[in-house]
Amino acid sequence: MVSEQIQLLVQIQKVDRELLQQKEEEKRLPERLKVAQQTLQTLEDELAKSQAAITELDKKKKKEELELKVQEDHIVQLREKLPRLKTNDEYKALLKEIETAKTKKRSQEDGLLVFMEEEERLKKDVDLKKSLVSEGQRTFATQKQELETAISQIAASARLVEEKSSLLSETIDKEILEKYKNLLTVCKGLAVVPLAGHTCTGCHFSLPPQLVAEVKKGDKLLTCTYCHRILYHTVQPVTQQG
Ligand SMILES: [Zn+2]
Repeated sequence: MVSEQIQLLVQIQKVDRELLQQKEEEKRLPERLKVAQQTLQTLEDELAKSQAAITELDKKKKKEELELKVQEDHIVQLREKLPRLKTNDEYKALLKEIETAKTKKRSQEDGLLVFMEEEERLKKDVDLKKSLVSEGQRTFATQKQELETAISQIAASARLVEEKSSLLSETIDKEILEKYKNLLTVCKGLAVVPLAGHTCTGCHFSLPPQLVAEVKKGDKLLTCTYCHRILYHTVQPVTQQG
């Protein structure tokens, strides 16, 4: 009976579509892992950048501190000279020199303060990024574990589905199976479709009444005029596929 053969085809297609979905999912999973890894890598790069900025700032700060120390020593030396001076003019000139040196020292201190504030800010930034990185590492480890489990589950389930498909395929007419297999490739995993009233649920075109009547009889293998999918009639309400 053709109608029985078609019912078998519908079952095979259900299994084949399941397999197709699993294969798709199997392909997507490593991609998802890659995305998770990239996210973590970005966080790690950001942290490294902030840490490098601190190192750089630290160098500048140390240099500035050294210069400040030199300036302070310089002022002490100038002051020590004061009691030894002979004339009033020399005294005034040295006082002026000391004043200039003190002004320079103050601006160095201001500069150092800016560095320290910047360092404070960068340290907070590094702390924040460190916590983001460890959070990212935990998320990635969890995702990796989940995805690896999912991949092996899908692989196992795909093997079962594949076996089911080949078992079902053994019971069907070889010519019909061949036709179905070809259609499945051409029609992106949907080769057998039910009628919904007068409409083909594969391409959603309205079919000639004669064809609809013949499909309903179910004694011939008939295909859609437009998309060439194998048609069948079902009394159950048809949900759209594809
Ligand atoms: Zn069609």
